[in-house]
Amino acid sequence: MPRATKIVATLGPASNDRNTLLQMIAAGVDVVRLNFSHGTAQDHIDRANMVREVARAAGREVAIMADLQGPKIRVGKFVDGKIMLEKGAAFVLDAALDVPGDLNQVGLDYKDLPRDVHTGDILLLNDGLIVLSVDRVIGNKIHTTVKIGGELSNNKGINRQGGGLTAPALTAKDMEDVKTAMALEADYIAVSFPKNATDMIMARQLANIAGDAKGHKPLMIAKIERAEAIPVLQEILDASDGIMVARGDLAVEVGNAAVPALQKRMIRMARASNKLTITATQMMESMIVNAVPTRAEVSDVANAVLDGTDAVMLSAETAAGKYPVEVVQAMASIVTAADESEACELDGEFLHQTFTRVDQSIAYGALFTAYHLRCKAIVALTDSGSTALWMSRHDVDVPIYALTPRLRTLRKLALFRNVKAYELEQSNDSDAVLKAAEHLLLAKGIVQQGDLIVLTVGEPMGQAGGTNTLKIVQVGLN
Ligand code: PGA
Ligand code: MN
Repeated sequence: MPRATKIVATLGPASNDRNTLLQMIAAGVDVVRLNFSHGTAQDHIDRANMVREVARAAGREVAIMADLQGPKIRVGKFVDGKIMLEKGAAFVLDAALDVPGDLNQVGLDYKDLPRDVHTGDILLLNDGLIVLSVDRVIGNKIHTTVKIGGELSNNKGINRQGGGLTAPALTAKDMEDVKTAMALEADYIAVSFPKNATDMIMARQLANIAGDAKGHKPLMIAKIERAEAIPVLQEILDASDGIMVARGDLAVEVGNAAVPALQKRMIRMARASNKLTITATQMMESMIVNAVPTRAEVSDVANAVLDGTDAVMLSAETAAGKYPVEVVQAMASIVTAADESEACELDGEFLHQTFTRVDQSIAYGALFTAYHLRCKAIVALTDSGSTALWMSRHDVDVPIYALTPRLRTLRKLALFRNVKAYELEQSNDSDAVLKAAEHLLLAKGIVQQGDLIVLTVGEPMGQAGGTNTLKIVQVGLN
């Protein structure tokens, strides 16, 4: 069986050359993440071109996810690049400071922060490693006392415990970056810090307008990393194609201890809503510097698979780490073992599901049939990929092969759990297309003569219209 759970890898200085990228893709990267918090528009366009070229050379389709920076609130720069904050010291965050900071004060790139915080608030810097408590706010100056000290370097992020900062989800930079993302035809756009459905609807509108000239519509991923997003998760899901469990910022806002249970809830809700999920941040953190992961990291990755995530993500591990290829190999082997384990239970939930759509009923019919007849493969002849999406929200231990004539669909499918996509031409001769599908599966060694498979098709073929036909075929015998 092909690996069911997918791997997202972030590109950066450690993975910016053809050879490393080729090895990473060969080791199992399904989706490449371009982090728009770093680099110029041209850097991202160059990287995207390189990814597509290298993927073609490797004979694989890899999706590209453009991850917008969002309103990350950061401190400014320091005279010496960094300072050492001592516990108990006074420290001022000054929105009006326009010179590099020092041991006493530093500037802010989000000028409204002094209006958003109050005496008694706890501010967490550098992913929560440094903790400041707010004594008072006077004009543009936030006076704080250091509760937990440490090294603070240029441009580190600031969060408020409990969330509630008012910065809008889409900054002017994000709006420009959406255009770049559409120019390089990103398959996915990840929106940082959305706080409600409106943020996602706006981002999708911008992307669709920017992609209109090429007829390209990306899938939209909401990064769940604000405390406010949790109570409105269902409306955010409804407005998105998927979510990222963005554990880095989320843990800072809601507290580390709340995150594991939230991860499970988010993945469960996303699957029930027919949406995708990516589990992200610090999954293999120690492999930034070490050649092997810790036992805890191995368990974390495996548990995300058992939670039902579509993909697990690498951030600094592949962007800036010493072992960008080895970390993908290690992650792929953990994911494969978890996928194949008994703990990855069959999920018969769909048997009780009610639905009204024809394509959905065919999708569940295919799952039901494959589950009970123990078919070798489920084969979806698909245009948009929606049938494969319905089917991939449940684990029935039968791999789904999505065959599509559309390159854009092929790439998007790279993220879907339990789906392996191949290109297949379609025509209005459905008998010929079904034969070609069988040949492709035989040629790839996926099925053998006599194997039972389930196919879903939209007939008449070659016309726009949804999936409406379910076929059970014994390979080579029909
Ligand atoms: P980031 O998002 O890496 O862009 O901050 C992921 C997270 O916060 O976990
Ligand atoms: Mn984040």
